[in-house]
Amino acid sequence: MESNKFNSLIARVVAQHRGLYRVLCKDNEFWAKVPGKTIYQATSQIDYPVVGDLVSIVTQVSGHAIIESILPRINILQRKSAGKHDLQPIAANLYAAFIVQSVDRDFNPNRFERYLTVVEAAKIKPILVLNKCDLITPEELNGKMSLLADRFKDIPILTTSTLRVDGINSLKKAIIPQHIYCVLGSSGVGKSSLINRLLSKESLKTQEISNQTKKGKHTTTHRELFILDGGGMIIDNPGMREIGLADAKEGVSNVFAEIEELGKDCRFIDCTHQHEPGCGILAAVESGKLSTEKYQSYIKLKKEADYNDMTSLEKRWKDKSFGKMVKTAKKQIRK
Ligand code: GDP
Ligand code: ZN
Repeated sequence: MESNKFNSLIARVVAQHRGLYRVLCKDNEFWAKVPGKTIYQATSQIDYPVVGDLVSIVTQVSGHAIIESILPRINILQRKSAGKHDLQPIAANLYAAFIVQSVDRDFNPNRFERYLTVVEAAKIKPILVLNKCDLITPEELNGKMSLLADRFKDIPILTTSTLRVDGINSLKKAIIPQHIYCVLGSSGVGKSSLINRLLSKESLKTQEISNQTKKGKHTTTHRELFILDGGGMIIDNPGMREIGLADAKEGVSNVFAEIEELGKDCRFIDCTHQHEPGCGILAAVESGKLSTEKYQSYIKLKKEADYNDMTSLEKRWKDKSFGKMVKTAKKQIRK
């Protein structure tokens, strides 16, 4: 948005597609790529631009642009790709995440907590959103709100209905200009409906961006970063939609840092903190230094995170042996 003496411009990455990046600079958009030097020097995926990045570009006579560098990131949201050990970047420079649940069937504070661990681990501000409020009575809604307020102190909670205007207005007001937001939550809770309500008609969320390659072939992709009327930004991409449970491990450690600290006193380095002698965490529960409630939710979350951390092969094996165990147990009951 400013240029220096080398004619570099600062632009925002709004989409990426097969090694090409769609970048927005003031009101102009370009297809851009990284130079060979970047590819040569890259040691991991995070050395490449990702949606939400601010990049320094140089435009070329062809109308395309070269990405010279990625400006320092505030944060980067990554997820584990199925069966792989490396992390895949989803988006950069996110300020806050709207964690959405619908108040009817989807309502589940434990699931909120899992999203919270992921979001907080990535240093993204969480905002809880209860959608489809039109489906329950105000009394029911109040009950759910106070339940959440008790459990998730200091975390803002918004109530919305994509059918009603008032909730949408408070959602709009929560969005700070120049800040990037994402919308997380299970499928069917109303994420797309909410995003569409935030966008003006002209934004055309599903508009395709097409590119003609040198060989004359056309490629198309969808925009993943949207600029809202007030100047705030929303990122919605397929990777984002899959964010959730698979990435909770680091988050678990963050939220329960104080508990893990107690684990440093454990006699065994691979202590599971459940039955081992000389366990520092169990000792703290015993002495009342750590509440049983907190301990139990730590173990529960840790188990889920460990499970999600396994490769799909390990999972299948575990499910199989678990299935066998259930079968054997059933047989024994019948005897
Ligand atoms: P997504 O999968 O999270 O993107 O959810 P969608 O936005 O596609 O919405 C799923 C379904 O819920 C659609 O049939 C919507 O019309 C419906 N829906 C979305 N928001 C609301 C709401 O506030 N109230 C009601 N009653 N239905 C809604
Ligand atoms: Zn232990």
